Amino acid sequence: MNPDLNRREFIKASVATGVSAPLFSPALTAQNRATRPLVISSANNHIGADGKFLNGGINCVTRAMEILKAGGDTLDAVIAGVNLVEDDPLDDSVGYGGLPNEDCEVELDSCVMHGPTRRAGSVASLKNIKNPSKVARLVLERTDHIMIVGEGALRFALKHGFKREDLLTESSRKLWLKWREELNPQDNWGPSWHRTTKGKQISQANLSKDELAFNSYAEERLRNRPTGTINCLAVNANGDLSGVTTTSGLAWKIPGRVGDSPLIGCGLYVDNEVGAAGSTGRGEECIYINGGHTIVENMRRGMGPTEAALDAIKRIAARYENNLDELRKFDINFYALNKKGEYGGATLWGLRDDGKRNSFALHDGKEARLIDCAYLYEKK
Ligand code: ASP
Repeated sequence: MNPDLNRREFIKASVATGVSAPLFSPALTAQNRATRPLVISSANNHIGADGKFLNGGINCVTRAMEILKAGGDTLDAVIAGVNLVEDDPLDDSVGYGGLPNEDCEVELDSCVMHGPTRRAGSVASLKNIKNPSKVARLVLERTDHIMIVGEGALRFALKHGFKREDLLTESSRKLWLKWREELNPQDNWGPSWHRTTKGKQISQANLSKDELAFNSYAEERLRNRPTGTINCLAVNANGDLSGVTTTSGLAWKIPGRVGDSPLIGCGLYVDNEVGAAGSTGRGEECIYINGGHTIVENMRRGMGPTEAALDAIKRIAARYENNLDELRKFDINFYALNKKGEYGGATLWGLRDDGKRNSFALHDGKEARLIDCAYLYEKK
């Protein structure tokens, strides 16, 4: 049994919710031997628009560990890790290729925290810059501000020599178009598919084989509102900590909407004396409970990372009085590690919409692997 989570407590929590929460999560057995250096991140593993499987989290923690092993700073490590995912056009929830807002513009959010210097930097609603995490870092390093947003953040980045780029990939544009066309049957947009009276789908356009393949990928991807973000946390051999969170935010958001990811204390919090925590999933829910800060404070009061993260999930569920019909409308995940190098992840739903287990990526200095998150409820 994982020492991090007292089993009786966990059962009590499950029973109190009155629903089929698991009595024993497999995630609770396999983790949390303290080890330093250590890097964890969200899993970011799913099928990309090209039909291939993405392993963003594993790539991220592997890159970050290389830097830690070479003696690099924890902030350098986590930022270099997530840069791989920001640069990847096939991860449509982060950086280049991120899914756009309702006006079909990509808007990115990110924040960073550096434990040893106790400093933070953040940008939100940033357009046309591929690596918002690097801009967030510049806010930390080159200003006495913490957060810069929108047009100001873009101008700040350009003045620091960043290149203005078009971040919308063909596949993100096409997903947006499909979402837009299917939004309202009464407006003037699409859909490109029509149903006959017998329920058979026919196309009004002459679609190529590639377009047909893309349509079936899009249907899968759009079944639920697409989510994603990457959060990465690291502790080095000395026990110094840093973290970063970076995202294109909620797909099809109202322009200017900001989620939890760039908010210090929500999508990320680091306290070099205690630990670090971050989140992915429905940002509004994380903001309501100040997820990152809540988890670090839980750890300060003696909880292990898994228990601290699961407590944050329970607080979110409690806002809805554990009403499953309400909770089924979203996903939320937390990741945490402490100064000793213990780690954990917790999620509202054990199983993702694609049927895979909700997990997080870890590199313990020997190997990178995925670990199942502890969860409050098994399935949506
Ligand atoms: N947390 C991000 C946001 O709400 C999105 C996500 O992780 O899916 O902006």
